Amino acid sequence: MHEMSLAQSIVEIVESVSQQNNNRDVAKIKLIVGELAGVELQSLMQSLTIASHGTVMEGAEIELERPEGTAWCMKCAQTVPFHHLGDPCPICGGYQLRINGGNEFRVSELELKTED
Ligand SMILES: [Zn+2]
Repeated sequence: MHEMSLAQSIVEIVESVSQQNNNRDVAKIKLIVGELAGVELQSLMQSLTIASHGTVMEGAEIELERPEGTAWCMKCAQTVPFHHLGDPCPICGGYQLRINGGNEFRVSELELKTED
């Protein structure tokens, strides 16, 4: 249940921002979950629904951004597409790869509901 603990940490971040803003409800959050972040998206979304229940985040719209994975290949001396951990370089077939993109996991935007 790796995704559940991630979901709980997202809800905590969102709640603390809301608290600094008179506990306003959250309208929308934007998440960046890279292809190589090691997060199962469907499981994360389900966990978020559960974790946000009864909080200011309940019912908020969740927008996902999914940056593609890339890695630096030592042999090719260039950045190559890299979609799965453990894969070889798609150009030279080597394994001297260092991930340099697509492993981010964070809340990038948060929109609070307007007070009425
Ligand atoms: Zn290569």
